[in-house]
Amino acid sequence: MLSFDTIVAPVTPPGEGGVGIIRLSGPSAVDCLNLVFAGKTPTTAMKSHRLYHGHLLNSDSERVDEVLAVVMRGPHSYTGEDVVEVHCHGGTQIMRSVLDLFLASGSSMAAPGEFTQRAFLNGRLDLAQAEAVVDVIKARSERASRVAMDQLDGHLSRKVYHFSDQLKQALALLEAHIDFPDDEVGVLDLPTLLAPVRQLSLEMSSLAKSFDVGRALRDGLSVLILGRPNVGKSSLMNAMLGESRSIVTEVAGTTRDTLEERLVLGGFPVRLIDAAGVRETLDLVEREGVRRARDKALSADLVLMVVDGSSVLTDEDFLALELCQPDKTVVVVNKSDQSQACDLSKLEGFPRSVSVSAKYDLGLVELSEAIVGQLGGDSTLSATEGVVVTERRHRDALLQAIDAIDGLLRSVDSLAPLECLAMELREALSALGQITGETTPDEILDQIFSKFCIGK
Ligand code: GDP
Repeated sequence: MLSFDTIVAPVTPPGEGGVGIIRLSGPSAVDCLNLVFAGKTPTTAMKSHRLYHGHLLNSDSERVDEVLAVVMRGPHSYTGEDVVEVHCHGGTQIMRSVLDLFLASGSSMAAPGEFTQRAFLNGRLDLAQAEAVVDVIKARSERASRVAMDQLDGHLSRKVYHFSDQLKQALALLEAHIDFPDDEVGVLDLPTLLAPVRQLSLEMSSLAKSFDVGRALRDGLSVLILGRPNVGKSSLMNAMLGESRSIVTEVAGTTRDTLEERLVLGGFPVRLIDAAGVRETLDLVEREGVRRARDKALSADLVLMVVDGSSVLTDEDFLALELCQPDKTVVVVNKSDQSQACDLSKLEGFPRSVSVSAKYDLGLVELSEAIVGQLGGDSTLSATEGVVVTERRHRDALLQAIDAIDGLLRSVDSLAPLECLAMELREALSALGQITGETTPDEILDQIFSKFCIGK
């Protein structure tokens, strides 16, 4: 157990609520409580992990608040240290007064992420688990929170430890042959040693590839609705949202600027963006909208390119289509409730298209499936048994490990000495250790935890 001073911070968000919680962690957490708490049970007699009723008193023995207090003795606490949590009334002034009381009783203000950093440093969580704490809190869909909870439970870490264990076994064998070249360890059978390493590299690669899906789950997908005026973009947005938020009108070109809404599609948090209608016009406001649509089409994860199935494709449709990259586009052929006049063969450069009626809510499930399918969501999740990489840092570490294994295989082909092979294996191990935190440099650790907010 590492030794730190005692820190304190509110763990509930600022503002008004029924209850606000202040947490202390460190060797004198219980002493700090003892100085300010008055209840039937003295703090020294409090059992761990039990709530006790009492009052907090200031230095003039005046009541500051009526509270419930819990002591969680280390190492069986979040941080691994002695932790005290005080449930007081959730008002801005009360919380400030209670915090001041603890600061005056000998604790210091916790830095952002310091509770979780201590949990990591005391071995209560590895780094991948610690990083998942923020993802659990910020998850914007059920599927995203499940993935984050799994990471917090150690699913990703277990995969990484499994990779490391296999590599360590190969390294131990190599080192035995380096240390005792002519002795009883027998002849080194390199192909047998390398077969599982090759297999691991493939598994790591499919895990690294899951980052696209992981990022989409964590940060959400940006989906741009694009098309010429009057094809039904606003109607489609409304239909997808299930309520009328953008203005639907008979007059072409009403959606002048862009409008954004958030929703969940197939378990993925989605930012749906309705871009200005695309057409060449002298109207400056619209021209600016078109320019922005161009930029947004480039930066969006996916474009829903809407055409009006009940009319022939126009130059304006082709102008909008020009803004789209086929591999990032689903063509939405709208107004399927009317007789169709649109020549779909002109859209064959776009492999995915779905027929819908935004007005009558037809084809929306297929559209949602096409969006998730375009992302490869379900196939990725099943390829990696539901474990996905949500952090770019983790993906990069996996790629580094794969690189080192590739280097190892090249060294074997060029008959390099065993020491070289061992070095490549150690590099792969060190890269994997960055995910779970064993080999992560201190400055990166500080960077990671400083992104947390106070009280985490
Ligand atoms: P936008 O300019 O692309 O945003 O188009 P709007 O959503 O404002 O729709 C233009 C017109 O097309 C409106 O009169 C809508 O009611 C109509 N519309 C939109 N979707 C459909 C549809 O699926 N079927 C039919 N029949 N009309 C639709």
